[in-house]
Amino acid sequence: MSTKIVNAEVFVTSPSRNFVTLRLTTDDGVVGIGDATLNGRELAVASYLRDHVAQLMVGRDSRNIEDTWQFLYRAAYWRRGPVTMAAIAAVDMALWDIKGKYAGMPVYDLLGGASRRGCRAYGHASGMDLESLFDSIRYEMEEGYKSIRVQTSVPGIEKLYGVAAQAQSSGERYDFEPANRGSWPVEEDWDTRAYLRHVPTVFEAVRNEFGPDLPLLHDGHHRMTPREAAQLGKSLEPYDLYWLEDCTPAENQEALRYVRSQTTTPLAIGEVFNSIYDIKDLISEQLIDYVRCASTHFGGITQLKKVMNYAEMYQVKSGFHGPTDVSPIGFAAQLHVGMTIHNFGLQEYMPHSEKTKEVFTESLAFENGYLNPGETPGLGVEFNAEAAEKYPYEQAYLPYNRLADGTVHNW
Ligand SMILES: [Mg+2]
Repeated sequence: MSTKIVNAEVFVTSPSRNFVTLRLTTDDGVVGIGDATLNGRELAVASYLRDHVAQLMVGRDSRNIEDTWQFLYRAAYWRRGPVTMAAIAAVDMALWDIKGKYAGMPVYDLLGGASRRGCRAYGHASGMDLESLFDSIRYEMEEGYKSIRVQTSVPGIEKLYGVAAQAQSSGERYDFEPANRGSWPVEEDWDTRAYLRHVPTVFEAVRNEFGPDLPLLHDGHHRMTPREAAQLGKSLEPYDLYWLEDCTPAENQEALRYVRSQTTTPLAIGEVFNSIYDIKDLISEQLIDYVRCASTHFGGITQLKKVMNYAEMYQVKSGFHGPTDVSPIGFAAQLHVGMTIHNFGLQEYMPHSEKTKEVFTESLAFENGYLNPGETPGLGVEFNAEAAEKYPYEQAYLPYNRLADGTVHNW
């Protein structure tokens, strides 16, 4: 058996949206793939991998995943950051994929085996008014989702995060991919007072229509101050949310102490985090209930498994970030982690487009609200380089926000 890596290739492809993929090949011809997609900044990670990491992979033993992770993290001297950690994540996933193929086992078996039959997923509902929102919730329930994220338009705000009815210039659903193709980010508007007034009325209407059982989630998308977040958390308490996500900007972690002291609404945070150091105090002080980190932006399977083992001691559960800006490889990677950890909570899921599925073939199954990565050895995703070539990279930017007076605000 010759498990040495002989080739490291980087692919940037755009089947509906941009993805960065790393492919490692061993002397035996075993192939492993990893996701390094960083929405709106894809080429920076592709360069990090092509110009600085690929040559270091050639000649390494693919079996030594922990050593390779530590080598890439520590030997660069410059630690952390979304570009570095997405690159490390891609290497890490590819190595777990290779190990699974050598072992003839799905990755979750190598991580400790399945702790559950499948990972419960939540779907995304949104609407411009209550009628279209209710239709959207009913549609998601018919698709099989047992938990629903609810985003709503707000009177006075023209374009708002997460509301699907706002079509993209590309023709894609807005909530399917908020990044707009082009060389400049689209400007959106924001008014926190209008938002705080409106959102509780929407959740009251949703509860009246759908009853008390259905788990409901909401994403604040980093827009509130700690006091505003506390106000929203309190005002949503009667509607029993499953979680309130990203209520304040994630870089100010102390903000969560105040929010936590003011409301019992469960809190989820971490999709923009890239290191265990971003989230360790939020976990140990029990300031959050759900870890929103994604394998792709968080150093891969190795670090995600570690942070969830740490979180287990504090009764904090997983709620991994899983929209379409995580490629099918990155999604599979965190699904394998979700299958094995004891403290799995809920998995965000948004099916990829048909074009994306042409480039990435998944063994994943979604049935009756539950996701399962399947029994295929490795991650269970195949990358089709020929199909990828049909969809060359197209520049795209996530939108940004301005307040009524023109001040830039968090998007
Ligand atoms: Mg979010």
